[in-house]
Amino acid sequence: MDSQKSHVIVLAYPAQGHINPLLQFAKRLASKGLKATLATTYYTVSSIDAPTVGVEPISDGFDEGGFKQASSLDVYLESFKTVGSRTLTELVFKFKASGSPVNCIVYDSMLPWALDVARNLGIYAAVFMTTSASICSMFWQIDLGLLSLPLKPQTATVSLPGLPPLGRCDLPSPMSEPTSQTAYLEAIMEKFHSLNEDDWVFCNSFEDLEIELVKAMRGKWPLVMVGPMVPSAYLDQQIDGDRAYGASLWKPTSSQCLTWLATKPPRSVIYGSFGSMENISAEQVEEIAWGLKASNRPFLWVLKESEKKLPTGFLNSVGETGMVVSWCNQLEVLAHQAIGCFVTHCGWNSTLEGLGLGVPMVCVTERTDQPMNAKFVEDVWKVGVRTKKDEVGIVTREELEKCIRGAMDGESGEEIKRNANKWRELARSAVSVGGTSDMNINEFVVKLLEGKK
Ligand code: UDP
Repeated sequence: MDSQKSHVIVLAYPAQGHINPLLQFAKRLASKGLKATLATTYYTVSSIDAPTVGVEPISDGFDEGGFKQASSLDVYLESFKTVGSRTLTELVFKFKASGSPVNCIVYDSMLPWALDVARNLGIYAAVFMTTSASICSMFWQIDLGLLSLPLKPQTATVSLPGLPPLGRCDLPSPMSEPTSQTAYLEAIMEKFHSLNEDDWVFCNSFEDLEIELVKAMRGKWPLVMVGPMVPSAYLDQQIDGDRAYGASLWKPTSSQCLTWLATKPPRSVIYGSFGSMENISAEQVEEIAWGLKASNRPFLWVLKESEKKLPTGFLNSVGETGMVVSWCNQLEVLAHQAIGCFVTHCGWNSTLEGLGLGVPMVCVTERTDQPMNAKFVEDVWKVGVRTKKDEVGIVTREELEKCIRGAMDGESGEEIKRNANKWRELARSAVSVGGTSDMNINEFVVKLLEGKK
């Protein structure tokens, strides 16, 4: 089978934190000679601009606005399963009719029904995990019955192979509060239940990053590390490499940010962002605002609807020292020499971007996998400081200021910078030619080019 006949559809869940790594994976496959098409929902395709990859819509049943139109996550995921299975199948038939047959579907783990679509069509199926391998290992252990939910009230620490001891506050939120996130937990568990049925299980991580887990699980589970899925120009230093994910669900204010950053000294600016689904309480926004101001450093903060959320008079009080925008090209900002610290919610993509670009982090987490990613940032990779919440669940301005100083100043700041440089290099070598992730992708490409399915 020649490369143009080996055609992979990469199916992404329609959220920024899912489209980015899956689109990046599609681009990697295309750069290695496969034909790759990204499939996502009707209302997200127009946000994608990736010339080396085809982009095609499928339907989740809510073609005007997606998830926001659905009455609950349950309803949304059920509709996506029914309508998505049908329209994904139709897409594969369309390609067959046009002389470009598809021989593999790589699908987002949030869309586990794509396995059945691939099976029914007799083509390869590969699932792509958008979280860390450590998070995957926890759900895997739950599926095997080695870890039972809900945790017993007396369980203070969870010990699992290859992971540091985890306190309750470190666990992914569907585990620490399973009753409040049933649909989300069920979608995840459905995937882990069928893990051995996939031809490949890919994870957006790299072996060195989770080496203890890799050692503990060798030969026991099918996970293959292919990350970090960060555009190549930022990681393997290709001057003419890929400089953006190629997908933005919001309009970035990039030139404004870069002009402002250019006026600041190297490594002086705090960049704050809480991800694409940021849902921070008014009280927390206020504490972050005053904490950033108190740090006495320039800051660039991504906050949607800031005019509604920021404390009155805040922007006037900071003047030129602070800039608040509704969305930016985060990679471009993190890669800027003026950035000295990343105040982050520790979404997995943001965590990998901070690590891959060698930026010290301050973690202000909310939910899902964020607390566990933060635990690794502080205790395992030692590239940042994790904020503690007060008794009502708020990170106070004093706490934020203290953690920013810890990540940027003095001996702790120096040690964090050294570690951040080390991890940046390790991330680069994983994706560079001959690196562990690069080799893992090559094996997949070779298999597809053999064209057995
Ligand atoms: N992002 C961006 N601009 C912003 C904020 C975020 O481009 O202003 C990108 C960021 O680079 C990352 C993604 O959005 O790739 C967010 O994914 P993450 O897993 O960090 O968090 P989520 O949005 O899923 O909570």
